[in-house]
Amino acid sequence: MPTTASTADPASPASPASPASPATATATLPGPARGSLAPVRRGLRELLGLVLPDGCAGCGARDCPALCPSCAGALAGSAVRADPTPAPPGLPPVWAVAPYAGPLRPLLAAYKEDGRRSLAAPLGHALARSLLAAAAASPPGRPAVVVVVPSAPASVRRRGRDTGAVLARAALRSSRSGDLLAPERDPCPVGELAHVLRLRRRVRDSAGLDARERAANLAGAYAVPRTLAPLLAGRSVVVVDDVATTGASLAEAARAVRAAGGTPVACAVVAATPRRCAYPGGGPDD
Ligand SMILES: [Zn+2]
Repeated sequence: MPTTASTADPASPASPASPASPATATATLPGPARGSLAPVRRGLRELLGLVLPDGCAGCGARDCPALCPSCAGALAGSAVRADPTPAPPGLPPVWAVAPYAGPLRPLLAAYKEDGRRSLAAPLGHALARSLLAAAAASPPGRPAVVVVVPSAPASVRRRGRDTGAVLARAALRSSRSGDLLAPERDPCPVGELAHVLRLRRRVRDSAGLDARERAANLAGAYAVPRTLAPLLAGRSVVVVDDVATTGASLAEAARAVRAAGGTPVACAVVAATPRRCAYPGGGPDD
């Protein structure tokens, strides 16, 4: 998964209160003040949410429950190829529905770091379109296994849930809904979700690292336990994450899938760094 502002999980999106940074690595080192205060902030937000609407997670507009029409529209695009340039060796084709810019940054931060659980459904619906495009690379009649880039255990504890796994489950549900599944791809090319990737060592916070340093930081960091490898052996696999920036996390996940006997055919994310993809009007560097 992608970049982040959290010092404990470089794969997380930057929070509006934190400096933006590409999120590709996954670190296990706890964050400083933000990390220690995150559960308190999350609890306060959830309490306030019982009496006050949160407002739009993308732009902050107060007169809507989760997303205003404009920010919801930012998630409504079709899936497009969003491979980073340069792409890390071994990175499968990447599909995304939005640029990781504008409202997508605060929106993903609100979902991951601020406990906005209601965003799992719209984000999952967006990820489902990337997932279906990515899984189309699997052979007909052989649905692709879906593998999620792992979050650091410290990030899961801080957030109170595995946001990547929750998002992937929401995407799988949406991918099987009638409004997304093209008739010619029945049965659905998206197979089962397999939580098989594990972090096997501590990695540095990716903030401040360039693409080469991020790749080196993550090299060999993920693994599939031997007992879980049969879930991937001989299968097409789609690797999913919330954001793609340099592609280092996705490439490392694909390497671990190959090592376990699977064939990573594509990657699916919600958003990718604009200068590295080609959305219509997606960013100044498109
Ligand atoms: Zn908005």
